[in-house]
Amino acid sequence: MQSAKEFVEQLRPAGGRRSGKRDVIVQIFLRQEGHLAADELVELIRAEDARISRATIYRTLQWMVDAGIAQKVDFGEGRFRYEHSYRHPRHFHLICKTCNQSFEFLSSDIEALIEEIAEARRFSPRQSVLQIYGTCEDCQAGRQPERIAAPTDALFARDALRIAIATERSGLEFYTRAAALTKDARGKKVFQRLAEEEQEHLGTLERRYRQLVKADPELEAHPTFLFFKGAANGIFAAGTEELVKGVDDRQALLIGIRCERGSHKFFKRYGERFEESEGKQIFLEFADEEREHLDLLIREYRSLVERQAAGPKRR
Ligand SMILES: [Zn+2]
Ligand SMILES: [Zn+2]
Repeated sequence: MQSAKEFVEQLRPAGGRRSGKRDVIVQIFLRQEGHLAADELVELIRAEDARISRATIYRTLQWMVDAGIAQKVDFGEGRFRYEHSYRHPRHFHLICKTCNQSFEFLSSDIEALIEEIAEARRFSPRQSVLQIYGTCEDCQAGRQPERIAAPTDALFARDALRIAIATERSGLEFYTRAAALTKDARGKKVFQRLAEEEQEHLGTLERRYRQLVKADPELEAHPTFLFFKGAANGIFAAGTEELVKGVDDRQALLIGIRCERGSHKFFKRYGERFEESEGKQIFLEFADEEREHLDLLIREYRSLVERQAAGPKRR
């Protein structure tokens, strides 16, 4: 995982000279979660080092925006807020006009739609902003809203793991059924092996999930950050339904191939779209595993077709 220092080095614009004060400001800014107004940042920094002037802080803030370290956001309050992009995946905002809190979420369906539209219009998108204004759950219920800035990177990893775990579970269900239904001895073994692998991966993912929650017990209480309308577990669930209807060995392999291909594409496509983060890692690793399963199934399918062609015609 990239350190805060490496993150800044990598983004430092060409010719940007080093400055001690600037480094102090950047480091303090990167330690904050959430969306800070410039004045709030000035207060934080001057509390640590009163020799740094307001003008320097404002200048550095602008430099950070230009360098891609900070994002300027406008929540319609008549002043800008700033959030850093270190270990902070791209996201959209829900903004409560009663308590003025903002809540972050990510939806790959929305992102895909934006890309599609931009492509159709031959537009090269640089940044998209989606802000939903309204009233948060706490304010609607008349409760005092809790002010806990959620660690977005960890939430992202949490949700990526949940999606991968759900997919792995439905994959396990699929292969267990396929192994039971397949008549060809070799095909049966392949499905059994895949079921075992899914079981093992599931164990790894669940362990990782438990570690994440152990590191931050509050993590599970935060609302969903990452939304997927067509999450990949639906792919295997549909496959299982087809299996149950009754298929022959070849068809079972073909359904498996289709599911693994769908799952691989899904995790790769979204994983590549995310910024450097644990969530991205989880998706890309998972995509690789699905790719291996896909290759194995394709080999088996070919072998089955060959054996069926060479051997005595059944029935
Ligand atoms: Zn509110
Ligand atoms: Zn934000």
